[in-house]
Amino acid sequence: MPCGAGCEGRSCRIERQTGRMAAIVMVMTTATFRFYQQLNAFLPADHRGRDITCSCARAATTKHMIEALGVPHTEVELLLVNGEPAGFERLIADGDRIAVYPTFASLDIGGMRRLADRPPGTPRFVADAHLGGLARLLRMAGFDTLYDNAFEDGPMAELALREGRILLTRDRELLKQRNVTHGCFVHALKPAMQLRELYERLELAAEARPFSLCMSCNAPLREVDKQTVLDRLPPRVRELHQRFLICDCCQQVYWEGSHWRDMSALLDSLGRMR
Ligand SMILES: [Zn+2]
Repeated sequence: MPCGAGCEGRSCRIERQTGRMAAIVMVMTTATFRFYQQLNAFLPADHRGRDITCSCARAATTKHMIEALGVPHTEVELLLVNGEPAGFERLIADGDRIAVYPTFASLDIGGMRRLADRPPGTPRFVADAHLGGLARLLRMAGFDTLYDNAFEDGPMAELALREGRILLTRDRELLKQRNVTHGCFVHALKPAMQLRELYERLELAAEARPFSLCMSCNAPLREVDKQTVLDRLPPRVRELHQRFLICDCCQQVYWEGSHWRDMSALLDSLGRMR
């Protein structure tokens, strides 16, 4: 009889002879994991920065165990099993030593296989319901970002997969879903720091197109003649500003006021990270 852990009955003769405990011993292997850099943030305090030796089901893959220990697969750039590059499908063998490295554009891994590649083209995003501030900043930088505070996990993951978007979230369980292929766990809490984190991780500076998308609805902005929007401008804005952009979708009008300048300063500081 199959033991339920993938041996299809071939190795469970002892179970039938000596009982359930013997079968448990047979189907478990022991492996040692070490997580590097910011991946430690996903671990309990007593697992951080040190070897973690644990029992694994015999048919367990590296992906299964890494996520069981708390780290979403989307956050992993490189796996070394006994010093050799490996993939997420690698079956864990008894005594394996598994080193797990985070996604970082600046990580030099030579010719080794990157596990977390970016979708082709300029990155596009779906931000979960808790990342509205980040979504607005990404749009301000010109990155197509879908956001709705009513987004639910399942449909959001499907949307990201269907449209080749990177899923942004602070919910690690969402990133562990089987249909999530490209995702980023956002560590920072404040939108400006979250944007900085994504710039670093995905090297976004070269692809930014500031003030090309509406911060409110993600639609393209276009220049508009001042006379066209004059009756919608506060008196002081009428006096001081000559250049205006409009969103044809939600009719929001933008000008180079203090908010615009703050945003420009933020993007300039991120651009200097290149
Ligand atoms: Zn708009």
